[in-house]
Amino acid sequence: MTKTNTMNKRFTRKLRRSLRKTLLADIDCFRQLKNATVQETKDGPAIYIDRGASVLAVGHLDTVLFNKNYSINGDRILNCPQLDDRLGVWVILYLLPILYPDFRFDILLCDSEEVGLSTGQHYPIDKQYNWGFEFDRAGTDSVVYDYQSEHWVNEIKTFSDVGIGAFSDISYLEHLGCKFVNVGVGYHNQHSPNCYADLNETLFMVDSFAQWGIASQDTHFPHQKTAKQSSWIAEDYFCKWCQDYCDDEQLLCIDCQRELLELSWPSSNDYLKDDEIDDFGFDNLDMMIRKDG
Ligand SMILES: [Zn+2]
Ligand SMILES: [Zn+2]
Repeated sequence: MTKTNTMNKRFTRKLRRSLRKTLLADIDCFRQLKNATVQETKDGPAIYIDRGASVLAVGHLDTVLFNKNYSINGDRILNCPQLDDRLGVWVILYLLPILYPDFRFDILLCDSEEVGLSTGQHYPIDKQYNWGFEFDRAGTDSVVYDYQSEHWVNEIKTFSDVGIGAFSDISYLEHLGCKFVNVGVGYHNQHSPNCYADLNETLFMVDSFAQWGIASQDTHFPHQKTAKQSSWIAEDYFCKWCQDYCDDEQLLCIDCQRELLELSWPSSNDYLKDDEIDDFGFDNLDMMIRKDG
């Protein structure tokens, strides 16, 4: 069997359907996940699934922008701003459990990450995890934020390059006393209508991470809460000319020097209810032809 056939076989119809559903579903749909318990907060729900594991997976359900009419071309999902972080949510809800059933983890799904108020911080978790992870990083490197330590970074470097990042949901979980990493999930141009993902990159990162994850799931990586809190940088201004956000209060876009529009938060994302989601387009998703490895 050729490599292409092997990879196509991995991307089953069940995975295709679950990806479409994860990209389109209303946040409320995720409350129905098996064994989910929900902490209501003023910023939305924090949804927790205890599966008796020693590792915690985190993701966020809110999105800056949403486009139900995204398109697919080969291994790419195009014009799909909700890939941040619905692609990461799909990885932890479906892709990892199906491809790597020996890798065991609990799940925490957050709201309001994109407005700096990640609801995961409010879920009363009283369990000591060994470590945790999130797939909410653009491209194919990983970041550790305030979970920096030589030992932890050297572990991450065994499966990924380590970059620098601002914050994500895991930045709010230092009180759990273990290390976290945010792993690249292959989306690009996040926070813009042109957001896309190359699913070869997604699978490459998932494969690399999972092999390390299985070997490391029983090892505790302790963490002391740092004095400094990662601060959220508001990307409140949107340049309609170059379709990008700016993170400070300049009146002109730092890229194209034209006038900025103020974005009102939270964005009005018109997600779909369960029964409004069809399978359209997903049989054309021509998946998982890996270029390397
Ligand atoms: Zn995100
Ligand atoms: Zn984002």
